[in-house]
Amino acid sequence: MNPNFLQTPIPYLKGVGPNRAETLRTELGIETYLDLLHLFPNRYLDKTQYYKINQLQPSGADVQIVGKIVHIKTVEQKRGKRLVANFVDETGQMELVWFRGHKWIRENLKLNEPYVVFGRTARYGSTFSMPHPEMELVSEHQQGLKIAMQPIYPSTEKLSAKGITNRVISKMMQQLFLECKGQFPEALSASILEELRLISKSEALFNIHFPKNQELLAKAQFRLKFEELFFVQLQLISKKMLRKHKIKGLPFDQVGDNFNDFFNKHLPFELTNAQKKVIKEIRKDMGSNAQMNRLLQGDVGSGKTIVALMCILLAIDNEFQSCLMAPTEILAQQHYNGLKELLGKMDVKIALLTGSTKKSERTLLHNQLENGNLNILVGTHAVLEDKVQFKNLGLAVIDEQHRFGVAQRSKLWRKNEIPPHILVMTATPIPRTLAMSLYGDLDASVIDELPPGRKPIKTVLRFDGNRLKVFQFIKDEIKKGRQIYIVYPLIKESEALDYKDLMDGYESIARDFPLPEYQVSIVHGKMKPADKDYEMERFVKGETQIMVATTVIEVGVNVPNASVMIIESAERFGLSQLHQLRGRVGRGAEQSFCILMTSHKLSEDAKMRLQTMVRTNDGFEIAEVDLKLRGPGDLMGTQQSGLLNLKIADIVKDNQILKTARYYAIQLLKEDPKLERVENTAILYAYSKMLKQSNIWNYIS
Ligand code: ADP
Ligand code: MG
Repeated sequence: MNPNFLQTPIPYLKGVGPNRAETLRTELGIETYLDLLHLFPNRYLDKTQYYKINQLQPSGADVQIVGKIVHIKTVEQKRGKRLVANFVDETGQMELVWFRGHKWIRENLKLNEPYVVFGRTARYGSTFSMPHPEMELVSEHQQGLKIAMQPIYPSTEKLSAKGITNRVISKMMQQLFLECKGQFPEALSASILEELRLISKSEALFNIHFPKNQELLAKAQFRLKFEELFFVQLQLISKKMLRKHKIKGLPFDQVGDNFNDFFNKHLPFELTNAQKKVIKEIRKDMGSNAQMNRLLQGDVGSGKTIVALMCILLAIDNEFQSCLMAPTEILAQQHYNGLKELLGKMDVKIALLTGSTKKSERTLLHNQLENGNLNILVGTHAVLEDKVQFKNLGLAVIDEQHRFGVAQRSKLWRKNEIPPHILVMTATPIPRTLAMSLYGDLDASVIDELPPGRKPIKTVLRFDGNRLKVFQFIKDEIKKGRQIYIVYPLIKESEALDYKDLMDGYESIARDFPLPEYQVSIVHGKMKPADKDYEMERFVKGETQIMVATTVIEVGVNVPNASVMIIESAERFGLSQLHQLRGRVGRGAEQSFCILMTSHKLSEDAKMRLQTMVRTNDGFEIAEVDLKLRGPGDLMGTQQSGLLNLKIADIVKDNQILKTARYYAIQLLKEDPKLERVENTAILYAYSKMLKQSNIWNYIS
């Protein structure tokens, strides 16, 4: 078949007129034969299996059962009548229920005759019931065994309203297969097909739409999931190779006075082995001729800042400028202060640029940057403004990347002819299994060790009723000289209420912790930046003992003396957010605590989140649970990696297939980087077609 045939517009398909075509386009995004072919069923009604009544599960699935109706009665309800049939097999009894069409059913159903019933069951008390079952006498059923497994396609209200039912879509699919003669171009190489014992593309597509049995369906799904993930990996990996080979980087081949001085004289503590390892990896990257694009993962408190600084010093040794960007003013300020302190008397010029930098200062700053008198610029988004021009930007460090959009990061590239090296630091742990797949195009370093002497944070769950005890605990900790965070949720949808909770909470704290013995700070998003900074500053300096805040303090803030984190309405926070918040304490030598305050009513998911927090401090373990609970949609990075537009695979459930796909993609590109070999023609063809359609090249990490 001519492969372009699949690009035929859908109205050409027999049985699809302009009206239906329009509905298919708006509701399902189907414009071509190919789009229709790639409309995969959500599930299948398996009519190859028969269940016994005592095998039914409360979870409720579509099942097929053989049995007899022994009794029918009408039950009167407030909202109308219901027809209930007692249905039995040799293992038990259940109910078939109808809310409509009573007369017809009463007249046609036969008592004590064997029926095959098909439908979804639900359990009420100890009895299973099946509303509006499909029914067939066993005698008729045996004659007419048609499709064994019936695909159920995605549907919308509008589709059904316009008469495009599941049956109609099945018909279209049949027509499509007829017109294509069931032949579709193979996209994988013979050797991959053989090694993995994959069925051919045509066979897979047939069995995904018209499965003959469970086994063939499973093979079809595996084959198509593999193919989908394989091509995503192929894109990511070849993009990385392209960057390594084609995009020139600034070679930082000197290790000079700044780096050595700092290392020998100013290092305030011994680096952990993990920090040393990561610094080595980064040095190697920046010393090569390729541009570095590296993700630095390290749990909260693992000491990423000092790693960043040492890389910056390396840039300075090679006569390049650096910038360090943070997502909020407070963080930028803190980084600035922290770096300044670490640099001590070293001859390195560093400045801070944020939204609230005064105009006169700004002009001065711009000049210093342009003539190269400034070595390090720390700042917020303000750093990305067009007016900010560097003389020679060599390294950009981005802290907590998830607050920065992709488009913003790409702006950095335009500040130089040769792009600067990029180091992205994040404390949001990405499950190991996923990291390489998501960031297949980035290099990744992990600091998997905390500085020595940290005591694991003790985390407990407390209900609102225990508040007095919690207050007493706070008082005891303050007596020991510690500081306390109390964090309230703030969610856009319920902002007004959330602010009220915050203010109520603050007032009650202020009442129970009165001046002059206690000083209480409050910080939230509605305050002016200057006021926020002022309050934050007071807390950092230890002038106030309690900081009441919304999640503005979530990332990065470093107050080693704070030892208690109290999270109000903890059930409303996501897992990674809880983990981030908890990471604000446990930074000093003292035992730290995290108290999760909740009401009694908790959803299953919320329970799981809170229990996970209590059980472990390990960010990676938490990330795995988070991923399972939320799915990958909310995870940073998925949006850009093309892994969210998957049609059939699921990066969480199909992680094993993903690993296999990645392995094969790497092997292939190693052996045949340009896909020139004859045996890889099919792959090359499918791949170039895909690149034309995808926008994966539009993003720059
Ligand atoms: P994060 O990775 O969360 O950004 P930071 O860089 O803020 O962590 O470091 C957390 C704290 O640990 C800081 O107070 C820092 O000075 C300290 N720290 C970092 N590395 C070490 C080390 N190797 N030994 C002791 N303390 C360290
Ligand atoms: Mg940090």
